[in-house]
Amino acid sequence: MLSKAKTQWAMHQLYKLIPDAQGALVADSPFQLLIAVMLSAQATDVSVNKVTPQLFADFPTPASFANAEIANIEADIHSIGLYHNKAKHIKTCCQQLMADFGGEVPRTHAELEQLAGVGRKTANVVLGDAFNVPSFAVDTHVTRIAKRLKISAQDASVIQIEKDFQAKLTKKTWVQAHHTLILFGRQVCTARKPHCDECPLLRICQAGQQFLEDRG
Ligand code: SF4
Repeated sequence: MLSKAKTQWAMHQLYKLIPDAQGALVADSPFQLLIAVMLSAQATDVSVNKVTPQLFADFPTPASFANAEIANIEADIHSIGLYHNKAKHIKTCCQQLMADFGGEVPRTHAELEQLAGVGRKTANVVLGDAFNVPSFAVDTHVTRIAKRLKISAQDASVIQIEKDFQAKLTKKTWVQAHHTLILFGRQVCTARKPHCDECPLLRICQAGQQFLEDRG
């Protein structure tokens, strides 16, 4: 497994490669970010950003979603994957915000994860990006990179990967590390044909060395 020191070294290389990585979802408030992250499951950030301006114009508050017909929410998000379920979850989630949280987005894991359609990853992204609460969200890119670099075991669960990064990185870097790893996964350490020959981590990455050897 990659040590704490080497994991921190690797992240420093990635910060140099991809400075100031940030989330790509456009949102003006914690509430808008929560809805945007819910929509982004199995959808690209670009596709979410295309629908949210009209969605938030039609439904500017948790109360407006809570009182909406599901079909009207669906009409604004039908280009997004799983839109039937997402519309249902958004309405229920906003009813919960109104009933249990005074119309505000809560600021703890436990409270966020009570909301319909909100899992650990969504809670982590909202806590980190909306409230500056140190948190580390694990998605498909982070999972792939963690296993290729042996930051986590090959059979590690999402929760274990989150714990591994939290143990190996300082708390104040968790949010930045998450965004940097996602862009690194999109641009360099891609699922298919990763760009190992251009990767600053090649010398500590057995998976990358193996990819290059296999390609000849
Ligand atoms: Fe990913 Fe290749 Fe870099 Fe390893 S060397 S981290 S597999 S891009």
